Amino acid sequence: MKLRNKVAIITGSGRGIGKAIAIEFAREGCVVVVNYLHSEEEAMKTVEEIKQIGSDAFPIKADVSKINDVKMMIEKTLEKFGRVDILVNNAGVITRPGDYKNMSEEDFNKTIDVNLKGVYNCIKAVIPAMKKQGNGRIINIASVFGMLGAAPVAAYCAAKAGVINLTKSFAKELAPEILVNCVAPGTIDTEMTRAGGEELIKWISENTPLKRIGNPQEIGKAVLFLASDDSSFITGHTLVVDGGYSLK
Ligand code: NAP
Repeated sequence: MKLRNKVAIITGSGRGIGKAIAIEFAREGCVVVVNYLHSEEEAMKTVEEIKQIGSDAFPIKADVSKINDVKMMIEKTLEKFGRVDILVNNAGVITRPGDYKNMSEEDFNKTIDVNLKGVYNCIKAVIPAMKKQGNGRIINIASVFGMLGAAPVAAYCAAKAGVINLTKSFAKELAPEILVNCVAPGTIDTEMTRAGGEELIKWISENTPLKRIGNPQEIGKAVLFLASDDSSFITGHTLVVDGGYSLK
């Protein structure tokens, strides 16, 4: 087992990609804090599934864009499990409409607050515990569109580009105890993608060398690699998992 007795906080892990990461980790012996904001029922189901696998899990409601919520999440985790070995910053949102003519200022702020500030908040709050332990792994979920740009979701892409840079900057600042890496998924089959419509999925599939979109488990496995000892000499890296979509 690659993560036996490790403790991980995975933000937004009640559903979607976060849930797939949580299940991959649990199969490798990891105890998981299942963070959620709106999806309480799904979070409880994820906790149950993890317990059925034979690992432990604990749900915590917290809005990653609010620093006090995030501090509470870290404190509760330390109270319950005594340590935090891995932080996965997965929580994210796309607000629509996302084009410059129609996107509201409120949606712009939310996009940056959840996708970028949320990652910063969680990293900042977990550092003292990881420094005290003398080790830690942080994996941020960005997007290949944070590297390529995409229309009409400029704010989302800018936030994800920020996540890629936060990864590099914190990798330098937190070395050598804490390794910080990033996964940049292409289009993955989740509610976020389905909200964009069938036409978009068809277009992306046709324009991807592997001729399909990805599934959440394929991101879970990439994150597992970056959380495990298999990646012990990798920090500041962005691992693109996109079926070749970003190839020119
Ligand atoms: P999703 O199905 O829409 O799930 C989003 C998750 O984020 C949910 O668990 C949600 O929890 C959580 N969340 C949203 N706002 C939150 C907040 N303020 N505080 C805490 N949790 C919050 O999306 P997904 O496809 O699984 O995406 C997961 C991550 O992968 C995101 O960062 C996304 O940008 C990134 N990504 C996705 C794709 C894709 O094609 N799907 C591609 C590239 C990158 P609640 O439901 O409890 O609110």
